[in-house]
Amino acid sequence: MRRVLLADPIEESAMARIKAAGLEVVVRNKDKDGPIEAQIKGFDCVVVRSATKITREVIEAADKLKLIVRAGVGLDNVDKVAADEHGIEVQNTPEAPTVSVAEMVFAMMFAMARSVTQADKYMKEERWEKKILTGTELWKKTLGIIGFGRIGYEVAKRARALDMEVLAYDVVNIDELCKKTGAKKTDLKSLLKSSDYISLHVPLLPQTKGMIGLDEFALMKKTAFIINTSRGGVVDEKALLKALKEEQIAGAALDVFENEPPLEWELVKQPRLVATPHLASSTKEAQERVGELTADKVIEGLK
Ligand code: NAD
Repeated sequence: MRRVLLADPIEESAMARIKAAGLEVVVRNKDKDGPIEAQIKGFDCVVVRSATKITREVIEAADKLKLIVRAGVGLDNVDKVAADEHGIEVQNTPEAPTVSVAEMVFAMMFAMARSVTQADKYMKEERWEKKILTGTELWKKTLGIIGFGRIGYEVAKRARALDMEVLAYDVVNIDELCKKTGAKKTDLKSLLKSSDYISLHVPLLPQTKGMIGLDEFALMKKTAFIINTSRGGVVDEKALLKALKEEQIAGAALDVFENEPPLEWELVKQPRLVATPHLASSTKEAQERVGELTADKVIEGLK
């Protein structure tokens, strides 16, 4: 019987599915089981979330390991190079939070357009500030999506329902996805110049680090709003602070930060900034989907 080590906890239902597929499941108890290097022998698959690190030492200590499944998005806790060298497949579940993140983008766009967070703050201070909070509609506005992958695509689909014009920019061919969503493919400069809302959905790479900086803010409309639910560091925070203070743009919404939690809170405290603590994927459904997809990948992978 193939053996699966659950090094970090996953949903009960996912564990039940793995067992029902005829696999033996062992739940690791960190306090009693000693270092994972000592426990990994004899297992065909190991499942981790973010707590357990699958280092080169763990991989070298394994004798039967064929599959590492990371229940979640990043792979920072798995030594992928060592796994590749040993012919061990590595899987994760980046599809799980896609819809949750896409919905969060709209929560942020509406919050900015209608000053929801600012209005609520005034109300709690017993201030009835109706006059200074006139908003704008999303209807017929242009949404520029930077990074047209899983999340960017879901954002575009939802924007159609609001009758928004969608511009999309990516470094790979997105013709088919544009056709499906009615989005218009464009270059970065045109997108920055003509969008009312700009939403970032790129990974953090050397090429995307600080990709929205002083020059990019200078191209944007004074009435533009920017939303970052991708990774902190894609937007240069110093440049954003300057753009907000100098009213170069109308507002920003950030779910992700260069340091989490931030070391400096000045940006977060800007009145025209909506901030959330990396919440975009924190939904009940996304969590459940992590479990489902993890079970799928374990069962498929060990077939
Ligand atoms: P994805 O890989 O499906 O899409 C990313 C897209 O960005 C790809 O199409 C890629 O070609 C494009 N891209 C890469 N470099 C680019 C560049 N220099 N310019 C333009 N486009 C570029 O990823 P996804 O699942 O859509 O996730 C997008 C981002 O959202 C990632 O950074 C991910 O880490 C982040 N994310 C955040 C949360 C959260 O909780 N806030 C949750 C999930 C994912």
